[in-house]
Amino acid sequence: MSCRNLILILGDQLDQNSPVIINADKSQDKILMIESRQESTRIPSHKARTALFLAAMRHHAKWLQAQGFPVDYFYIGQTESASFETALLTALSKHNPTALISVEAGEYHITLLLKKLCEQTATQYESVKDSHFFCSIEEFSSWSSGRKSLVMETFYRNMRKHHDIIMQGKEPVGGHWNYDKKNRGSFGKKGPGLLPELPDFKQDEITKQVLVDVEKFFPDNPGELSSFNWPVKREQSLVLLNHFIEQCLVAFGQYQDAMWENESLLYHSALSASLNLKMISPREVIDRVLQAYQQSQIPLSSVEGFIRQILGWREYIRGVYWTHMPDYLELNYLKADQQLPDFYWTAETEMRCLQQVIGQTLQTGYAHHIQRLMVTGLFALLLGVRPRLVHEWYLSVYVDAVEWVELPNTLGMSQFADGGILGSKPYVASGRYIQRMSNYCDQCCYDPAMRIGNKACPFTTLYWDFLIRHKDKFAKHPRSAMQWRMLEKLDDTEKHSVVLQADKIRNKLASKN
Ligand code: FAD
Ligand code: SF4
Repeated sequence: MSCRNLILILGDQLDQNSPVIINADKSQDKILMIESRQESTRIPSHKARTALFLAAMRHHAKWLQAQGFPVDYFYIGQTESASFETALLTALSKHNPTALISVEAGEYHITLLLKKLCEQTATQYESVKDSHFFCSIEEFSSWSSGRKSLVMETFYRNMRKHHDIIMQGKEPVGGHWNYDKKNRGSFGKKGPGLLPELPDFKQDEITKQVLVDVEKFFPDNPGELSSFNWPVKREQSLVLLNHFIEQCLVAFGQYQDAMWENESLLYHSALSASLNLKMISPREVIDRVLQAYQQSQIPLSSVEGFIRQILGWREYIRGVYWTHMPDYLELNYLKADQQLPDFYWTAETEMRCLQQVIGQTLQTGYAHHIQRLMVTGLFALLLGVRPRLVHEWYLSVYVDAVEWVELPNTLGMSQFADGGILGSKPYVASGRYIQRMSNYCDQCCYDPAMRIGNKACPFTTLYWDFLIRHKDKFAKHPRSAMQWRMLEKLDDTEKHSVVLQADKIRNKLASKN
């Protein structure tokens, strides 16, 4: 039987206010949702990531049905669900729609695939602008065109002005755009003390069945499900948002860069997956933050620091992705060619910081920003791992990973593979940074202050080796020259020892792969 429009809702488009739902006609249109096995195996996806997507999709389908929408839902176990392509072709032939409609996809390859399949089946395809974001792809493109470099701070200030967020006329509330200096605290020797506890998101029958399905269909995928506790529907995402506002926001700014043994969340929101699957919108998150700011004693540095992440970084990253794909995927400015060490999949390493961050990642599918940027990302950058392999790891292991947000963060911010499109200099540091921001080094067999010798911290050795290897590229750069000037203090013998020790680290890791 044919329908008018077949409305495709992808796994990261679970927005109850989606324009394709608002404009749908329940009597003539049909909704299509596809669980594809290939999506979890193309790059083997963390079990918690797959479980979160599937559980959220099944809850969204239930909600749609309760609203009276007819939904054709392909479950992971169905033969047609082997791949997204097979399922979609089956649905197109079954419903013979006048048009296939979807919101703009979050991944470049899906956009191409949808166009290709519609051409192949002579189906009209309509891609609808995603109203979830503050800044459309076209708006970002016109902001960025003609600019030599895309400075996030400039973009963010424009967004603040344009949307009148924490503004007093044309000036920022409090007189400053940025409270970064206040927002770099660590916990010191005393540690974080009593931390807020994440709400318990009880598993209903739908979620329980998903967990069974994931173990059944992806037994060999990375990660575990034993501590699965993610919001899988809008109501739960709102509970998480309330929890963040009431218990974490006040200290978010001060401790946003801090890390601590066996504590993954600290004062972070854990809202990224709910946002990326669009169970909640960035507008309602920011509105709630502003409301809390007006009604209670939340410091402006926390409020601004948090809003900067959502209104600034998240929107900016999306713009970079869509204005630079597909070429972005292949960039490798530093010509990095090493393999990703095997311990990224097992956490079996004597480096305490990596053991902690990777262990927590495999257990829960979560790590906060500084853990991703300045522990796992930093080590891969200093070691010289091929950016494509680093990208695949990040896309695989985090529950919030969707390519539009994961790729620029990994290739651009973390690996400097884009040569400065996203950030003007590489984020490099020695083990001393990790020592300052965490207590990981206290339990480690290495010494972050040493660059040579048996006890030398591999981060520190590789950091100095990085400075030596890339001196020509960065020594004259105004924002990084300072770091490279320190290199001049090393004599040739010391530099030679650093290079030899760095080679040893690479050879040892390569032999284990
Ligand atoms: P909070 O610290 O509570 O921050 C609030 C929100 O701000 C986040 O939920 C997120 O939506 C947004 N945000 C913060 N930083 C960024 C950023 N750099 N880019 C985009 N949004 C941001 N984020 C993802 O959502 N998906 C990814 O796949 C992803 N991959 C990353 C890979 C690397 C190498 C790095 C360095 C960062 C990556 N990030 C990614 C950004 C950031 O680390 C996560 O958004 C954040 O850790 C999620 O935890 P949270 O919700 O507790 O964040
Ligand atoms: Fe990590 Fe080096 Fe500190 Fe060990 S000493 S925890 S390897 S930074």
